Amino acid sequence: MEQNVTESVPLRAHPLALPTPTPVRWNRSARARRVSLRIDPRAGEVVVTLPMRSGRRAGLQLLTTHAAWVKERLASLAPAVPLSPGQEVNLGGLPHVIRHDPALRGPATLAPGAILVGGDGEFVARRVADFLRAEGRRRICERVAVHAARLGVKAKRITLKDTRSRWGSCAPDGSLAFSWRLVMAPDWVLDYVVAHEVAHLRELNHSARFWTLVTALTPDRDAAQEWLRKNGPALLRVG
Ligand SMILES: [Zn+2]
Repeated sequence: MEQNVTESVPLRAHPLALPTPTPVRWNRSARARRVSLRIDPRAGEVVVTLPMRSGRRAGLQLLTTHAAWVKERLASLAPAVPLSPGQEVNLGGLPHVIRHDPALRGPATLAPGAILVGGDGEFVARRVADFLRAEGRRRICERVAVHAARLGVKAKRITLKDTRSRWGSCAPDGSLAFSWRLVMAPDWVLDYVVAHEVAHLRELNHSARFWTLVTALTPDRDAAQEWLRKNGPALLRVG
């Protein structure tokens, strides 16, 4: 059982006071054994998880002890990018401006350097998000087909998710899952993540044999890993 409440907590008393107000999400968890802190990069919040029997006091204490860490982590988050008209969103690593024209009908479409979205203004974000997911699915499935053919393997299923910590995964039954947010990364980064997961269809481990397969599928392994380390967190701030 989990219960989530978001609120702002003023922590002025401590010398290492957090920026006021600090967005804190209180999370009560029946599974938690102890009080813990983490940053939710998507929401731009600190999440304090409390076991059922702990009071908020214990959470506030932990927050205060780690105030410097929390402050630094929140400050280093990339700015949030809402999917609203006039905003730029990367597609395949290239900037595309969101253009809203209420007269347009049907789902959002791609134009050079732009994503065109019609209909009521209040649904723009939803429509752009749907478009990005669909475009992500299309590009990822295309690359899965290419790499799977090279290795003579077949993915059982391809699922797009909104994961926080993994860009892709491969289940023992041969199902692959990817973050839809990869659609915003340069093509060669998306391609590396796909090659990595497809290679797991042959080697479900990170052995030398596995890495040999990955290297045969893509020359961009190191650069792509480095790109994701550096730029991945910003992708989580979109939408
Ligand atoms: Zn792996």
